Amino acid sequence: MDRIRVIRTHVLAIPHRQRYHWAIGAPEGTNNVLVEIETEGGVIGIGDACGTRSAIATSATIETVAPLLVGEDPFRIEWLLGRLYRQGNWSNQRRFANQAFAGIEMALWDICGKTTGQPVASLLGGRVRDRIEWFGFIQGYEPTELADHARQLVERGFTVLYMKVGIEPERDVRAVRAVRQAVGSEVRIRVDANEAWDRLTARRMIRRLGEFDLDWVEQPLVFYDLDGMAELRRSVETPIALDQSVFTDYDVYQACAAGAADVVVVGFHETGGLLSLRKAAAVAAAAGVQLNRHAVIGESGVSTLAALQVLATIPNLTDGNQVMEGLFVDDTITDGLFTIEAGSSLVPSGPGLGVEIDWERVRYFRDLFLRVGQYPN
Ligand SMILES: [Mg+2]
Repeated sequence: MDRIRVIRTHVLAIPHRQRYHWAIGAPEGTNNVLVEIETEGGVIGIGDACGTRSAIATSATIETVAPLLVGEDPFRIEWLLGRLYRQGNWSNQRRFANQAFAGIEMALWDICGKTTGQPVASLLGGRVRDRIEWFGFIQGYEPTELADHARQLVERGFTVLYMKVGIEPERDVRAVRAVRQAVGSEVRIRVDANEAWDRLTARRMIRRLGEFDLDWVEQPLVFYDLDGMAELRRSVETPIALDQSVFTDYDVYQACAAGAADVVVVGFHETGGLLSLRKAAAVAAAAGVQLNRHAVIGESGVSTLAALQVLATIPNLTDGNQVMEGLFVDDTITDGLFTIEAGSSLVPSGPGLGVEIDWERVRYFRDLFLRVGQYPN
């Protein structure tokens, strides 16, 4: 049996092409932690740990739990993750630890896929679809630049668009109006407030934005206010999506039991891996709720490739999933490993996650981190 020999992390700073405007701020770049796990037999799995908030802390978390993995069978993923939570004592710090553990878990699946010669989707229950549909993520701040970008995304074939609100009420209304006018009535528009509103503001804003026929409003209230979200669902027509409220399968259970969500927006950096994302999806499915894939600022193309593998296996997946595309000056993966055509990507069928790293770029982003450090949010 091949065993885990070593875990390496690379802490990176990747500049954005333009500032990323959302309710929290407008970062100039992404901090990312690339994870490599190598077996005694020389198989290398690649993972992507989210480096937002503190890439150094994420990397240190991985190094801290590495002794729990070394010498073990990389195929025992469920058992190894259980070890990290229990013996690593991260169980009650999941919201932070999961962004690091997702990078470890992803790399383990990559090893399993490369060892067996199978795409990871085939090890996770197999594909229920061959393509994953994405939303077009409208970037910018001013209504005119948002409208221009929205038009470009529709020309590229996206039928679902997503934009940030919760920045400033009058700007938000002007921004959504400009986008709706630019793209016409057929295109679906989702807005994300990222917890920016209190209950009264949320009700007012969703009613005002209601005239633009929104597909849904994401995370209008602070993450813990499930009662408020359930009340909103009863008082406004627009569907409510939960994102920051739902990190784990247990969160999904609570949100669904509270009647707080029309849809849950979850990714593997919240759940702590591909396997646990499937569990969260299964809990939502039991409540008759679909799962929309969440991407995080701080992830690279490695995560996009991993997402294609796991999303292919989830029956209750929405259309218009999130992908961080076109945000970076350059990605850590080799160009051309996935393409977006008419708003969707084909799930690769090669072994593992299908990742090839551009090590020259990784070295450049590693050196850049030593100079610029953590990007302010
Ligand atoms: Mg969101």
